[in-house]
Amino acid sequence: MGRFAPSPTGPLHLGSLYTALASFLQARSQQGKWLLRIDDLDIPRNVKGAADAILRTLDSVGLYWDEQVIYQSRCLDSYHDSLNNLRQRQLLYPCSCSRKDLMAVTVYNGICRNKSPQPDIANALRLKTDSRLISFEDGLQGLISHNLAKQHGDFILKRKDGIIAYQFAVVIDDNLQQVNQIVRGIDLLTETPKQIYLQQLLGMPSPDYMHVPIIVDQHGYKLSKQTRATAVDLTKPHSVIFNLLCLLKQNPPLELQHTPVTELINWAVTHWSIEPLKNSKQVNA
Ligand code: GLU
Repeated sequence: MGRFAPSPTGPLHLGSLYTALASFLQARSQQGKWLLRIDDLDIPRNVKGAADAILRTLDSVGLYWDEQVIYQSRCLDSYHDSLNNLRQRQLLYPCSCSRKDLMAVTVYNGICRNKSPQPDIANALRLKTDSRLISFEDGLQGLISHNLAKQHGDFILKRKDGIIAYQFAVVIDDNLQQVNQIVRGIDLLTETPKQIYLQQLLGMPSPDYMHVPIIVDQHGYKLSKQTRATAVDLTKPHSVIFNLLCLLKQNPPLELQHTPVTELINWAVTHWSIEPLKNSKQVNA
């Protein structure tokens, strides 16, 4: 079971559609389901209408999902249940550090771990880490090992503004949705050990992971909403998919360049191979 989990912070750009297509092809080539989840917890970053625009884009390029779309904003109870579980096991502590306090800090040093809580000011909730080594074999990037305490430090599960952190929600949702294979951009690779740690603490199985390269522009910058990558041009969906298949190094035959998008997708499902993407970190748009 695979999934695509975009944040509704703008329309899909080529970089996010690239990831969507890779996860779709990986799931479908194994006759698996492909689910769609809208990661809309970060309310200040949500853009009105973006979630619907994302659904329309996926639909128009033939990336049809299974089951109902899940919206994280409607799953708050499940996050709070798991937070309570961790809280009862004394794995969480409130952190009142300000952005300024943390400006020069790359790995959080646990300064609030032993402070008495200050209930009258806004606190974030951090998860205690230890020096265990989290290792996993990424389907594309090989063996990844991180020492959590050293490389990440205690990390935030609930922000000061009350918003559940991406890190945490993603683990709960993937488990609830029984996702056992996650294909996403390599920019999230360093987050994965934290998520595996959470799975271990909560007794959840870890899915298999594949982190696909990111698409970069001519200056080497990741195509993203932040770099104002433009929305995908939907006037010719088959050209978009053909281009993405080239960027996924699938070598689609030239004669497919003008076939309807559903046929192109069918070809890609049948011929999908991850071999050419192995160890690849970035591709040029
Ligand atoms: N919502 C995240 C994003 O758009 C991706 C989550 C994931 O694939 O784990 O960057």
